[in-house]
Amino acid sequence: MNNPLTILKQTYGYGQFRGQQAGIIDHVVQGGSAFVLMPTGSGKSLCYQIPSLCREGVGVIISPLIALMQDQITALEQLGISAGAINSGMPYGEVLRVRQKLENNQLDLLYVAPERLVMEEFLELLDQVNIALFAIDEAHCVSQWGHDFRPDYTALSLLARRFKGIPRIALTATADKATRKDIVDRLKLGDGKTFVGGFDRPNIHYSILERNNPKKQVFDFIKNNHSEDSGIIYCISRKKVEDMAEWLQGKDINALPYHAGLTPQVRSRNQDRFLREDNIIIVATIAFGMGIDKPDVRYVAHMNIPKSIEAYYQETGRAGRDGLPSNAYMIYGMDDAAMQRNWIENSEAPDIQKRIENQKLNALLGLCEAAICRRQILLEYFDDTGEPCGNCDTCDTKPETFDGTIAAQMALSAVFRTGQRFGMVYVVDVLMGKVDDRIQRFGHDKQSTFGIGDKLSKNEWQNIFRQLVSQNLLMVDVNEHNGIKITEKGFLFLKKKESVNFRKLTEKQKAKKEKSGKKSKVVLDNDLDQSLYENLRTARQQMAKKRRVPAYVIFNDKTLIELAQARPQSFEEMLGISGIGEAKLKKFGQTLLDVILTG
Ligand code: ADP
Ligand code: ZN
Repeated sequence: MNNPLTILKQTYGYGQFRGQQAGIIDHVVQGGSAFVLMPTGSGKSLCYQIPSLCREGVGVIISPLIALMQDQITALEQLGISAGAINSGMPYGEVLRVRQKLENNQLDLLYVAPERLVMEEFLELLDQVNIALFAIDEAHCVSQWGHDFRPDYTALSLLARRFKGIPRIALTATADKATRKDIVDRLKLGDGKTFVGGFDRPNIHYSILERNNPKKQVFDFIKNNHSEDSGIIYCISRKKVEDMAEWLQGKDINALPYHAGLTPQVRSRNQDRFLREDNIIIVATIAFGMGIDKPDVRYVAHMNIPKSIEAYYQETGRAGRDGLPSNAYMIYGMDDAAMQRNWIENSEAPDIQKRIENQKLNALLGLCEAAICRRQILLEYFDDTGEPCGNCDTCDTKPETFDGTIAAQMALSAVFRTGQRFGMVYVVDVLMGKVDDRIQRFGHDKQSTFGIGDKLSKNEWQNIFRQLVSQNLLMVDVNEHNGIKITEKGFLFLKKKESVNFRKLTEKQKAKKEKSGKKSKVVLDNDLDQSLYENLRTARQQMAKKRRVPAYVIFNDKTLIELAQARPQSFEEMLGISGIGEAKLKKFGQTLLDVILTG
């Protein structure tokens, strides 16, 4: 049996295991099952790839995205690993060829989609071959509590019964507590071990600001921080995607649209260009991104809020897999929240699921309105902890806050006295003492709360109401025409006479926030290193083009940076560079040496 550390060094070219990799790999190599929760970019793939190489037989990887399997396979082939995929998108001849290899025991790794795996015919094929392990990637898809439930995944519970004794390893980067438990139950991993890595992505800078001029805000963010980088911009609808992509193209930016309404050809062409070329921006709905493991995405921008913190975390997590500085930038407005609430209410889901989704949305709004470190809130959400990070907008510039206790008491009692059934605009009018037909008709102009809030402007009251909702003291009831109600927490707040702080929104602060984000271009200290780095990038692009693979499949930026700094002069020295293993040295070593020696 091969030794994991030897494989890490010789095949992958890495010096040591990171975080919990070694423990997980040992456990699975010994035949144990595992549930692995680790952040994007932390190296989950190695946790099933290396055990597959160590153990007898083929590692079967279940992954939802067939469109990306081919790229994963080419990347493995560059490492000298024999991998194949079987899926419905392949020509029949190709399926037969992979099948043949499988039956001849010539594959190290086999990628399949869940719907294929559970077909009886396919299971019978697997019965006949030696299987090293099953890896269930994006395992949160198995859970209804997760944020991307896929019914096909539920059938995977049969693996435990049908393939007794073969280790199963389920991996995900995003799952709250309920989701974790559900994954372990459904995949019957109770006898296995759970590995939960920290959630932190220290290289990502977070900033979240109010939306006032969406296109220009995002454009300025890109111009100021990322003029030559690859990035993803998320929009809420197909129409908004088209609109933004076109607008950016008009400004001479390489922006390409991606959403489910485009033809499969256009989608895969745009995705391909994003993966293969430098400096392409994808403007997309959430249809884009799962399984994209391009390591040098330098930023993810959201023009609308996603539906939960998990979704936000997963989407922003697509930035900076290579560990180099990257940005997560989001602009938000309360109309986003109203739209999301409507979707939840109008969906066919059972009530309990709707309640869960509403809570998830509240947590996300809380993150948006927060006056404390964003990273702390994110980490806490996943039961992780951390100090204020110094690498997010609220750490960069502490938001001004004010004591909102009295205002909150006024707002809540106005909501209560008007019967907890009117919308925000109406209640604010009552507070400000506005006289109109409706208010008079309901007799609300005669109540004690009428006009008690006339010291604050309409904008200030709306800001307060938003934060009351995001802090979960008030809720918007979409079933009752968006009527505002007091939550349990809100009643407690009144009863216990608690105090509350709100985030101030001054014009000055808004202007400052436009500069949000952090420069993250790779700049090496010394001019010579920098020009060698640029030359190495060009060489990488040529090698990638020749093989028709994405540049990062050849080497990632980190490897090139190390090469430019260490300037190895021989094949032997080159093996000391992180990311250069034996197969890659053979394929690309001479080209790199030529660049270093002549440059
Ligand atoms: P995940 O699946 O958790 O998002 P990946 O498996 O794609 O992460 O790994 C992210 C990057 O880190 C990849 O480029 C991978 O080759 C690299 N990597 C993984 N493990 C190590 C290690 N022990 N040392 C150095 N780089 C590593
Ligand atoms: Zn912070």
